[in-house]
Amino acid sequence: MPLEFDPLPYPAEALEPHIDRKTMEIHHGKHHRAYFDKMTAALAGTEAAMMGVGRLLANVGGLGPAVRNNGGGYYNHNIYWASMSPAGGGDPAGALGAAVERELGGADALRKEMADAGVARFGSGFAWLIVQKQKLKVVSTPNQDNPLMDVCGESCRGAPILALDVWEHAYYLTYQNRRPDYIAAFWNVADWKSANRRYEEAMSAGA
Ligand code: MN
Repeated sequence: MPLEFDPLPYPAEALEPHIDRKTMEIHHGKHHRAYFDKMTAALAGTEAAMMGVGRLLANVGGLGPAVRNNGGGYYNHNIYWASMSPAGGGDPAGALGAAVERELGGADALRKEMADAGVARFGSGFAWLIVQKQKLKVVSTPNQDNPLMDVCGESCRGAPILALDVWEHAYYLTYQNRRPDYIAAFWNVADWKSANRRYEEAMSAGA
């Protein structure tokens, strides 16, 4: 499957007032685009260029820092856009909602655990809800690493269900240094419907 740069799944202003239009335009059109272009350049003419993104990331440790950073940046932003929706917010439902209750103590506890992981991430990175050994887990990764990568230790490997970008470029224009306020706003647009789809797929794939 070729690695493609997709448009945002909703208009750039669709997440306002929680995430502003200018941030989304720069984040997608400049940051995400640059990761894609640099990944493509780093992979040009290599056998790794023929891997799907899942296999690429699972073998990224041997492919050098340009592929690790930009391949991660490419994948992470795709799942971050998909983790938000103008129709988002509320609490997880379906199989994911039941698992959040059973395994994490409910939606409020999940939001707190993920917010704590995002705030505690020094510098730049992501907080994630993942499935690891058929159980939900909250983890965080530095820079553009992610839970699919072979460089992620056993404690953070898994199938991504929800991605929260805590790089300053994700929130600085509206929230400046107030990362906790940005994370609180994120929950108003968190797309639990797509998260539930990823959860069901990960569970049935044996993640
Ligand atoms: Mn970002």
